[in-house]
Amino acid sequence: MVNPVYMCDRHLLGEHVEIHMLVSSIGMGRNIGGFLERKLVDPSSALRRHEEIVGEMLKRGFRHTSPLRGVERIQHLLVSNPLDAEANLTELLSRCQRCRQRYREVRSLCPSGQAHRP
Ligand SMILES: [Zn+2]
Ligand SMILES: [Zn+2]
Repeated sequence: MVNPVYMCDRHLLGEHVEIHMLVSSIGMGRNIGGFLERKLVDPSSALRRHEEIVGEMLKRGFRHTSPLRGVERIQHLLVSNPLDAEANLTELLSRCQRCRQRYREVRSLCPSGQAHRP
């Protein structure tokens, strides 16, 4: 999963919505195969990921008013294909010009990226 610091606002908010959708889908007993096939979300780390993303949202001045419910129901799920953060970042940067621009800005402020890691 991509470090949220590098994501543009649109992708940041988009992934946030997807985590909420994933968790509520599972809570309602829906099949999440589609999410897993597209490797969009790793259910076993959805809670941690949600916190990372909300942290970045708050830094950018967005508000978070919707608590994530039902996480305990997905904690037991494991992903057979672990997500590849580097590959995801490369793909995101190749698809979104705003992410690319943000990535360059962040890296130029802090070339190692270390200060931004959780
Ligand atoms: Zn949320
Ligand atoms: Zn983007």
